[in-house]
Amino acid sequence: PAVPDLEALQYADVAALLPVPAAESDKYRRGVVGIAAGSTRYPGAAVLAVSGALRAGAGAVRYAGPGGEAVIARHPETLVHAGRPSEAGRVQAWVVGPGLGDGTEAVAAVSDVLATDVPVLVDADGLRLLDADAVRARTAPTVLTPHAGEAAALLGVAREEVEAGRLAAVRELAGRFGATVLLKGSTTLVATDAPHTPVRVNPTGTPWLATAGSGDVLSGLTGSLLAAGLAPLDAASAGAYLHGLAARRAADGSPLAAMDVADAIPGAWRDVR
Ligand code: AMP
Ligand code: MG
Repeated sequence: PAVPDLEALQYADVAALLPVPAAESDKYRRGVVGIAAGSTRYPGAAVLAVSGALRAGAGAVRYAGPGGEAVIARHPETLVHAGRPSEAGRVQAWVVGPGLGDGTEAVAAVSDVLATDVPVLVDADGLRLLDADAVRARTAPTVLTPHAGEAAALLGVAREEVEAGRLAAVRELAGRFGATVLLKGSTTLVATDAPHTPVRVNPTGTPWLATAGSGDVLSGLTGSLLAAGLAPLDAASAGAYLHGLAARRAADGSPLAAMDVADAIPGAWRDVR
């Protein structure tokens, strides 16, 4: 039978994917997420990514980077490390990129994380420092989460071209990088490089999500699902689904700030289960 181009995730699909801690779980088995994000210029992105990860059920969050003080002030649960990700300790999945800037620390963070053998999610500034060959050479899965502008830069085309052909763009990126790609926007698409696999369309969300920092929350949330052991396509599509549902709960027809979305993730989780 022909494979459809697109498929929309339903409540029941997401419910079946969400990890439930077993009676004998410990924090390490539940999944430790590493977050390499933030810079002295953009400390808030680190806080938002950590919030997304913690609210999505990570057993623990390790933060590597210069923003530890701001992270701890908001989330004393976090294990912080002021140096490079390669020295931060073992994690089950890394998120790299939000607010990273483009200095030498940012370059080192991206290369450290890509050199690991665990799933990696690359977002925001991390995408600007990305080398397709380095991604293709990885043995563990890679998830890229660009918005249209970031996708255009990765493809070397104008943003309008991505906007005019989002389905083609997300497929092209997945193929070029050998990765799972979550293309953000008013509708979010998720593609993998596996042949005969439909692109998933996220049915949740609200235009109130078009606010600074909301993408950083999504990267932490999705990183948490990767650390829990979800396959990259499942983690990315369930992440987008919960993120959109959390935003609808937080907004309810009114404005929201990105941190409100993170705080609404547990409620969205309950709605799905
Ligand atoms: P970023 O571009 O990294 O800040 O991420 C923005 C987040 O908001 C992504 O999850 C987008 O999918 C979402 N978003 C942006 N604009 C809209 C919109 N008009 N409707 C629904 N979601 C949106
Ligand atoms: Mg962003």
